[in-house]
Amino acid sequence: MSLTCVAGLGVSGTAVARVLAERGERVVVVEAAAGERQLAAATELSGLGVETRFGEMAVPEGATRLVTTGWAPHHPLIAAARDAGVEVVGEVELAWRLRPAQAAPWLALTGTNGKTTAVRMLTSMLLAAGRKALAVGNVGVPVVRAVAEPYDVLAVELSSFQLHWSSTLAPHSAAILNIAPDHLDWHGSLPEYAAAKARVYERAGTVIFNADDPAATRLAAPYPGAVGFTLRVPRGGQLGVVEDLLVDRAFVADPVDAAEELATLADIRPFAPHNVANALAAAALARSFGVPAEAVRQGLRDFVPDPHRLFHVDRIGEVDYVDDSKATNPHAAAAALTSYTSIVWVAGGQLKGADVDDLVRQAAPRLRGAVLLGADRGRIAEAIARHAPNVPLVDIADRETGAMDRVVTEAARLASPGDTVLLSPAGASLDMFAGYPARGEAFAHAVRELRARRERGH
Ligand code: ADP
Repeated sequence: MSLTCVAGLGVSGTAVARVLAERGERVVVVEAAAGERQLAAATELSGLGVETRFGEMAVPEGATRLVTTGWAPHHPLIAAARDAGVEVVGEVELAWRLRPAQAAPWLALTGTNGKTTAVRMLTSMLLAAGRKALAVGNVGVPVVRAVAEPYDVLAVELSSFQLHWSSTLAPHSAAILNIAPDHLDWHGSLPEYAAAKARVYERAGTVIFNADDPAATRLAAPYPGAVGFTLRVPRGGQLGVVEDLLVDRAFVADPVDAAEELATLADIRPFAPHNVANALAAAALARSFGVPAEAVRQGLRDFVPDPHRLFHVDRIGEVDYVDDSKATNPHAAAAALTSYTSIVWVAGGQLKGADVDDLVRQAAPRLRGAVLLGADRGRIAEAIARHAPNVPLVDIADRETGAMDRVVTEAARLASPGDTVLLSPAGASLDMFAGYPARGEAFAHAVRELRARRERGH
């Protein structure tokens, strides 16, 4: 009997091992860390006959396949598998291959930023249309766990890592939201990162792309009949915006002349141009699957934004406090910085090699102050000195818990009535926090403390 090696006991790795074992296949998991969580997962899997080997990164004797959830191609275990001629597939690819005949079709979406938001909007539209739908993939639910379940349709969020390890996916339709530099350390270069994203189109029934994004437009160019969406007035064959309406001129009986109103801009929350793009991507995927206009509108109205994405925390002394901790790269922060007019910017963290010069240059006219924290704050300070030398800047060198309280206190001091204190860091959080949610929660906690102090009259 063939043997599958699974890389790691993460959420997806554990799901893969379980699904394969339940199908009666032989599985060995290779895991580096023997922490509490990993040991618990290993014990649970051993009940299904799955062996876990801790420590050594070696492909087990006799393995014919290695399943990875997103490990880098240069990881020693992956390299060893390749050298031994063992096929390497991603969790998503495995899910595709395991899906039964008559399985739910996939509506797939990728991009640098906005994926989770757009996939959740899409799911909301599908549910409003009465379809049994589930958001899976990079949103947190392993695809392998859902493929054999009786859904009508799956809304699949795909990361560049997952697409890198996929080769035969054939979604009903596939959309690319945007392409900007990110994860270049993993992929090696921007062209390789874009090539991974482009894989989503290779076997898609309908190709959907952001016509306002030059890189996404280039990736869709080889596909005749590809459907673009735009924040401008749509041409025949596109979706777009006409005054305050989202309009479909693609998935209608006569795409040249006909147009169907889908929703109004007021149906989109939180309202920001990049969220209109997310709504249009979701609408295009939904419409490719036959979702009526009313369900697109209802889906947007029902949609509850995830926290840490332009989340309005509080308004204190006529200053708004907004948590956009999920902005872990400059492209995401740029979207937030164009959404407000008068900003005290809280930024910093790990830039992962990305450049912030353009971001700061474009934001400069809106900046009223900046509070910088984390590992690469010096790079942001340099860019501010170049492009906005008159903007007051506070450098928080402290990396201890409690640093965020100082950040918010300083930001409140710099802010005037009408300003927005915006945590949109442009960098990853792991230098100081357990993740972007912990960073956002520290910010929200500090804002609550600020309110309490103000109410006590300090
Ligand atoms: P992802 O799943 O791709 O990381 P999210 O929906 O979680 O995307 O949003 C991540 C960050 O990117 C948030 O800070 C959000 O404000 C910003 N963002 C969301 N949509 C877009 C977009 N279409 N273009 C640029 N930035 C965006």
